[in-house]
Amino acid sequence: MNVIDYLRISLIDRCNFQCQYCMPADAELDYIQAQEILSNDELIALVNHVFIPLGFSKFRLTGGEPLLRRGLVNLVQQISENPQTQDLSLTTNGYLLADLGRSLYEAGLRRINISLDSLDANIFRQLTGRNHWQKVWNGILTAHELGFNPLKLNVVVIPGVNDREILDLAALSIDRAWHIRFIEFMPIGNTELFTYKGWVDSASLRQQISDRFGLESSNCFGNGPADVWKIPNAKGTLGFISQMSECFCDRCNRLRLSADGWLRPCLLNESGQIDLKTALRTGVELSELRQQVQDLLNLKSEINFKERDRGNKTYQRTMSQIGG
Ligand code: SAM
Repeated sequence: MNVIDYLRISLIDRCNFQCQYCMPADAELDYIQAQEILSNDELIALVNHVFIPLGFSKFRLTGGEPLLRRGLVNLVQQISENPQTQDLSLTTNGYLLADLGRSLYEAGLRRINISLDSLDANIFRQLTGRNHWQKVWNGILTAHELGFNPLKLNVVVIPGVNDREILDLAALSIDRAWHIRFIEFMPIGNTELFTYKGWVDSASLRQQISDRFGLESSNCFGNGPADVWKIPNAKGTLGFISQMSECFCDRCNRLRLSADGWLRPCLLNESGQIDLKTALRTGVELSELRQQVQDLLNLKSEINFKERDRGNKTYQRTMSQIGG
């Protein structure tokens, strides 16, 4: 069986951007009440006494926008200083990175993914609902200067919106060791946009890039499902996350914990989730929670999506709520 050692932790469901594909402008999202969000102490108790003893050693902090979370720097410090933590990373929209990057680095964070769907300020505004391209770019440059490594840029490709920019985005990997991750658009969040625009498969992106620059397979492996390539002689790499066109369930090494404490075994299948927050707050012993999580791990390969409901599925929560 695949080793499940990677936990993605959503720290907050709110975001300061409103990406079309994730939180459509007219969506009425039910935000989690502040008191329902797991505190730093609760998260640390779960990490140290439930997940690490079960063999988890890789953690990603995400959201919503994790840089909006109060006490983030302290949380990063506590997770990073645990000797069992082999890898700690964070996914952000980059807006607050120029301000917070240094404190996060000093707290022990070394790996960062920044969402950047466009190099064109107008398209960026259309996609994110915010006129903040320059500030995000400055955040990326700050992260680069601080030495975050690997520094990855996440791109969700939407046909007719940013698909003309694939070559320019891929070219960002040539002169700097930046790793561009092209993510297939999923029907989570804005299903209307998904139905209307559709998605672009990674194979056709690779073809375009290969025709222009050439493309070779890279030896670089991450924690994730990305298929990693590189432009010959480029300093960085190109990864393709193809959850729509390929099934990588058999390689899946992760669980997801939402900001309100629901542990989710599979992004694309909502069954099997367990409510760790209520258990914690009603005094269930950490050893008992460990057993519940172990039971879920035993079931995970059965729960994994494996294309079973392809095309017919709608999801209750957006990526900002699940933790993207
Ligand atoms: N706020 C942070 C950010 O912007 O990166 C972290 C949270 S965001 C939900 C995490 C990732 O999920 C982003 O890279 C985003 O592009 C991706 N995402 C959100 N909705 C998606 C969808 N429907 N399909 C594919 N990726 C999606």
